[in-house]
Amino acid sequence: MSTATGQRTFDSLDPATGTVVGTHPIHDAAAVRATVAEAGRAARWWGGLGWAERRRRLLDYKAVVTRDLARIAETVHRETGKPEADAVLEVILTVVHLDWAARNARRVLGPRRVFPGLVGANLAATLEYQPLGVVGVIGPWNYPVFTPMGSIAYALAAGNAVVFKPSELTPGTGALLAELFAESVPEQPVFRTVTGLGETGAALAGDPGVQKIAFTGSTATAKRVMTACAANLTPLVAECGGKDALIVDADADVRAAADAALWGAMSNAGQTCAGVERVYVVDAVYDAFMRELTGRAAAIRAGEDYGPITMPAQLDVIRRHIDDAVARGRAVVGGPESVRAPYVDPVIVEDVPEDSPAVREETFGPTVTVKRVADAEEALERANATAYGLAGTVFSGDARRAVELARRMRSGMTAINSVISFASVPALPFGGLGDSGFGRIHGADGLREFARPKAIARQRFALPGMNLTSFDRGQKELDQLVKIVTFLHGRRKR
Ligand code: NDP
Repeated sequence: MSTATGQRTFDSLDPATGTVVGTHPIHDAAAVRATVAEAGRAARWWGGLGWAERRRRLLDYKAVVTRDLARIAETVHRETGKPEADAVLEVILTVVHLDWAARNARRVLGPRRVFPGLVGANLAATLEYQPLGVVGVIGPWNYPVFTPMGSIAYALAAGNAVVFKPSELTPGTGALLAELFAESVPEQPVFRTVTGLGETGAALAGDPGVQKIAFTGSTATAKRVMTACAANLTPLVAECGGKDALIVDADADVRAAADAALWGAMSNAGQTCAGVERVYVVDAVYDAFMRELTGRAAAIRAGEDYGPITMPAQLDVIRRHIDDAVARGRAVVGGPESVRAPYVDPVIVEDVPEDSPAVREETFGPTVTVKRVADAEEALERANATAYGLAGTVFSGDARRAVELARRMRSGMTAINSVISFASVPALPFGGLGDSGFGRIHGADGLREFARPKAIARQRFALPGMNLTSFDRGQKELDQLVKIVTFLHGRRKR
């Protein structure tokens, strides 16, 4: 489609009804380049504002977002189909992160003295983290506020300008977030949105004016984005979803574990990167857990407790995983008939072979596989046997044992006796390993992800007879240094 001025456009649709929610421009490579160039100028202004003023502006933006919570949630609800209450929760969680990023940026990134060591006793050593310039954020549709803001808020707090390319399914939400920012920062286009399809994101990733890309989406697209970034050596933080497991140990609170497994698997129609996709239950509590899980699942229905599948093409993936899992395992709740587009009712399948798509590939739907295991060790081994490594959950009655299992879980985050709880703690970094990507958003690591360390060593006075970085250096100085170093570092520990 195109407007009277020749600007090509696309529509965002309500996935529940197919009706048009909004019409947005398709920004081509030239438009992206112009936006990035403007953002580059805005970045210099924003970076020059200083910590206190940026904090004040970001806290004001937080207040604007909080006051406009209902409007943002309504847009999210219409573009993703998720219940409004879920959209409200998503915005609330975002506000918590905005607040943390604004309040902690100076503490984490600001200049500090570091100990220069005895050999550098005449130096004043300082470390600070400077903004990168323009950060490009390529966001997903499943949490169109919370997920991209995990990069945007932290990048802005670190002193960068941001150009945000929301998913083509949720452009209105992205545009609204940038529009509201201009209420707090009207002087310069510090946070801008470009809209369009995959090519718009590709143009952003390949733009030489962008100093870092923060991407959330599929592993396959992350590889394409990384290739585009390679042209300019643009660094990338990539959050690519997962195949997260929930482990139920023999001494776990089975009711709480079943409640968490159900919510972790089905909420947001299973379209959560850190959602529960696999459950491993220790033999001793397996039957009790399954009674509890299936009993609770019977009361949950798509279209009431959660919304439709936001991306129509995903229905094919979900259907393929269910068909295969049911054929090779045992459906205990739902089955192929649960897919009634655009909705999918809860599907729980047990005893699915570990090499099946429902166990190995990201389903991104309201489905979960459950397997009986001999003990927590077997559960952990199976949980870790995945190419992904985003997050996971442990339910156990023994705190020490649970922490020990969590440490050995091959994932960036682990929740114990609750599900996805780490995402609500802004001080905790969020990100994965393997096919789940690399780099971190949230917390101090998330702030540092959008800054470059700057090291400064200032000589305060010349060390008498110790000018080592000079051609005037003599053998005596070197002998003296060898003595000092031998005294400091030459003693062996036995
Ligand atoms: P994609 O990875 O295709 O898209 C994610 C983002 O990247 C979107 O904004 C998309 O834009 C953009 N994009 C697409 N192609 C390019 C490109 N060549 N260069 C730069 N940016 C690009 O995910 P989908 O939305 O298609 O979902 C597919 C699968 O990804 C899901 O089934 C799910 O498994 C996984 N996923 C994981 C998420 C997570 O939270 N980790 C979130 C969403 C999806 P556009 O939408 O305009 O195409």
